[in-house]
Amino acid sequence: MHRSEITIDLGALRRNARRLRQVLGGAELWAVVKAAGYGHGAVDVAGAVLDEGAGALCVATVPEALELRSEFGEARILVMGPVSGREVALAREARLELAVSDAEIPEGVRVHLKLDTGMGRWGLAELPELPVNVVGLMTHLATADSDPDFAAEQLRRFEQATGKHSHLVRHAANSAAALRLPDARLDAARCGVALYGLSPFATDPAEDGLEPVLRWESRLAQVKELAPGESTGYGRRYTAEEPTHIGIVPVGYADGFRRDMTGTQVLVDGERRAVVGTISMDALAVELSGALPVETPVTLIGDGVLAEDHAAVAGTINYEIVCRIESGPMRARRTVLDA
Ligand SMILES: *Cc1c(COP(=O)(O)O)cnc(C)c1O
Repeated sequence: MHRSEITIDLGALRRNARRLRQVLGGAELWAVVKAAGYGHGAVDVAGAVLDEGAGALCVATVPEALELRSEFGEARILVMGPVSGREVALAREARLELAVSDAEIPEGVRVHLKLDTGMGRWGLAELPELPVNVVGLMTHLATADSDPDFAAEQLRRFEQATGKHSHLVRHAANSAAALRLPDARLDAARCGVALYGLSPFATDPAEDGLEPVLRWESRLAQVKELAPGESTGYGRRYTAEEPTHIGIVPVGYADGFRRDMTGTQVLVDGERRAVVGTISMDALAVELSGALPVETPVTLIGDGVLAEDHAAVAGTINYEIVCRIESGPMRARRTVLDA
């Protein structure tokens, strides 16, 4: 019996991809599948989105790209992070494309030059002479989800710097910009989080017509009644004031259920119950309404329990919640549905 089960619904992923393509109109959907497809499994996700007409796959590193190349011989694959000299040779051989953020442009490999228009991270301040192997120009928006005026200013700078190269593929949008900033769509949009049915705006993804792709389920492995004054977990951070049933779920921070998610709610037999006490490496406790049997199902993400809800409790973003779910076979069983 596995401690927890992760189910990846590629049907939902396909519907999200279609929704994004519809929003994007003429711009291409480029699927961002870095960090193991935001914890969903890069190869499974990539296969489904290519099938739905995605024009390229985007990752952060050359090893991520090489894994995809071995599965998808013809796909366009863009490495968005910095690469070493040795990796340039690998990229050339594997027909990868590289985002380049400094004036030294590698030869013999297709390059997208990255301009820093206000993110203050990777990117050139201005465009150099363009060698023929530059096929794209890109920038990244710092505030597409929070400050449309600043995003518009970044787009203005990008347009000014790249306008005379409109024969190259130009791309700036992430998910938030693809959904809310029509001017950012340009030739292609690099969408990650929205594909997975997660909101770039920390709200309910349904508001943008998106469906969560990942479900995470477990069960009660032990149920006990605490007498008043008895506690559960390290540090005795939760102490019962009256006779209280608690259920122990065999999932902890090593599985990706973060230690700062105490207080968040999960579904126990379909009812919302609070996670109480300190979350341990391999276990967490939920407060129950009564004596439930061992094996009662617990939904950690799914059926209306959103990664966004857990992120709000932990003071982080939904991206970080899903990226950290450890679905290696030693911890969880992973099932991929494609319908
Ligand atoms: C991760 C990343 C994206 C995708 O962002 P989402 O908010 O997940 O859509 C797009 N562009 C770059 C450069 C990135 O690093």
